[in-house]
Amino acid sequence: MITIPCGDLGDPCGGTVSGETMDDVVREIQNHAIDIHGYTVEQAGAPEKLELWRGAIRQTARPAETRTNLLDL
Ligand SMILES: [Zn+2]
Repeated sequence: MITIPCGDLGDPCGGTVSGETMDDVVREIQNHAIDIHGYTVEQAGAPEKLELWRGAIRQTARPAETRTNLLDL
């Protein structure tokens, strides 16, 4: 399970987003960004946003709580 504070993703927010894998978390972040932050589907799917979010997840994910292969994505 990976949990990331939404505030680490570049938006001022006290919420957290979590999922089992990197892809799950990215999907949850997209849903969260659309529902909570008013992103459009296009904005939430923009390649530069996905890159930024994946980078933030890699930095925030704690190795003790994740499988090693998640950190290699
Ligand atoms: Zn948020």
